[in-house]
Amino acid sequence: MDYAEVASKYAELEAMSGRNEITRVLADLLKSTPEDELASLAYMTQGKLRPDYEGVELGLAEKLALRALANAAGLSQDKVYAAYVKHGDIGTAAEELMTSKNQGTLFSEGLTLRRVYDTLLRIARQSGSGSMETKLRELASLLNDASPLEAKFIMRTVTGELRLGVADYTVLDASALAFLGGKGARGLIEHAYNVHPDLGFIVASAAAKGLKGLEGVSAEVGVPIRPMLAERLSSAEAIVEKMGGRTVAAEYKLDGERLQIHKEGAEVALFSRRLEVVTSHYPDAADLVNEHVRARRAILEAEVVAINQDTGEYLPFQELMHRRRKYGVEQAISDYPVALNFFDILLAGTSDLTGRPYTARRRKLEQVVEQTERTRAVPKISTSSPGEMEKFMEDAITDGCEGLVVKDPDSPYRAGAREFAWIKLKREYRSELTDAIDLVVIGGFHGRGRRAGTFGTYLLAAYDSKRRVFTSLAKVGTGFSDQDLEMLPRLLDPYESRVKPPGVESNMVPDVWFRPHLVIEVIAAELTLSPVHTAAMGRIRPGAGISLRFPKYTGKNRDDKAPEDATTVDEIVEMYQGQVKRVGG
Ligand code: ATP
Repeated sequence: MDYAEVASKYAELEAMSGRNEITRVLADLLKSTPEDELASLAYMTQGKLRPDYEGVELGLAEKLALRALANAAGLSQDKVYAAYVKHGDIGTAAEELMTSKNQGTLFSEGLTLRRVYDTLLRIARQSGSGSMETKLRELASLLNDASPLEAKFIMRTVTGELRLGVADYTVLDASALAFLGGKGARGLIEHAYNVHPDLGFIVASAAAKGLKGLEGVSAEVGVPIRPMLAERLSSAEAIVEKMGGRTVAAEYKLDGERLQIHKEGAEVALFSRRLEVVTSHYPDAADLVNEHVRARRAILEAEVVAINQDTGEYLPFQELMHRRRKYGVEQAISDYPVALNFFDILLAGTSDLTGRPYTARRRKLEQVVEQTERTRAVPKISTSSPGEMEKFMEDAITDGCEGLVVKDPDSPYRAGAREFAWIKLKREYRSELTDAIDLVVIGGFHGRGRRAGTFGTYLLAAYDSKRRVFTSLAKVGTGFSDQDLEMLPRLLDPYESRVKPPGVESNMVPDVWFRPHLVIEVIAAELTLSPVHTAAMGRIRPGAGISLRFPKYTGKNRDDKAPEDATTVDEIVEMYQGQVKRVGG
């Protein structure tokens, strides 16, 4: 398949905003794609090359991509930078520069989808010394043979800025339309994707095997399942009422990191909440699984928590950050040992348990997990009494937990869903105006005085999930330790952008922009209306967005969250309304 055809469809998609229209165009594109190239195409529409959990990262630094463009266009880097700054978009700059270059050229070789995909994959997989030069060469050669429109989308893809407005669920819809006879199949394909979140695999299976093929998709060791998530309510009474007064399960909510544990014989793989492989951070947890999980093959979920070596007490989430270091994990393992608190089992032996009710899964979990000092099924009670639940909540907090997760005993494991089958209850919902929230860093302001030479303040955004953009919510300048002030710029450096990154909405202009990547946790005294910030603009009052009063960094980076998992604008609006209600009485 010619990449020109793909690029021209991308151009169409980019100009559209209606979801139905987008789905139709995408369905046409899928239909005209040969079966063996469908998977690559599905990843590429998302600006990716492989499913997220394989960790193949494209995101080439801007500087390198612009150097390759300068080479291909035969221009100086200054000219290329000037075009980039003028357009504020690396793709449009490439299109313009390649148009001038190609004038008078009658013949260009023409790229195939396969060549583009294979080259990008090679670029992404290069690492180590000399890899920068190789990446540069590969990209320049691709651009050299590209038409201006192709160059536009290639540049956006390599820098991680291809934002076609095509969510993974839109690709699923389009596949249902193209291969399964329409919308009726939506539920089935979505379920298949949630238990096997590899878009390429799902689209290709739909094309090759139709409905039958998708029905056969089930939990599989090695392929992480999209996590079931919890809604929140602010009191035990509200929860009991929401669950219809039935007897429900209340479990400790531990303050650690969620791990999805895949075990096959002695092989153990660990996935984070956002389905990244994190096995190397927790080799000791993998050993615990091997020693204390009595199943040859299983998929389990647990909260991993750092514990005090001497007393066995739980330590706060921050202590797990030591595990994210590139070097020194060995040291962190002995300084900060961990315990595993198992809360679910999704597969045992050859049985996919995701369709079974909570009670059956919990029973199985208790059989499989040996209770030791470092491993256990998470503490749980069954109750229909708000008073009992409150009491258990106090125990949980005394034991160093955040609160409770209350679970519907009849609910299956709803992969990828945030519903009231799981409801979290935390203390802070009651005593503070706002819950801690997770925001995306989109900019930095240079510091003065003691903070000269680093950023003194950061600009943060909430995620508008309907419009798929990041909207500014607050500037935060407190809560940073000296160590944080030194670490954050280092973490953000690869995402620096000369211009306001695509998909970011902010009236405030920081000294340096960052592409949405890093998610940090912030607390605040309250939510306020703001004429400056763009989050929830016009939702509460015309011309006003929402902002935070006295925001403060908590010291937690949410590496386990993708930017799209950050607190959403809808959640902010809900919190604002809740706060108004409370203040109003
Ligand atoms: P939070 O920021 O509160 O951790 P979240 O958005 O990461 O929220 P939620 O679905 O809202 O995720 O809350 C559930 C999270 O709580 C899980 O992702 C898991 O990490 C953690 N957790 C701790 N104990 C339990 C438990 N017993 N059952 C389920 N999840 C638990």
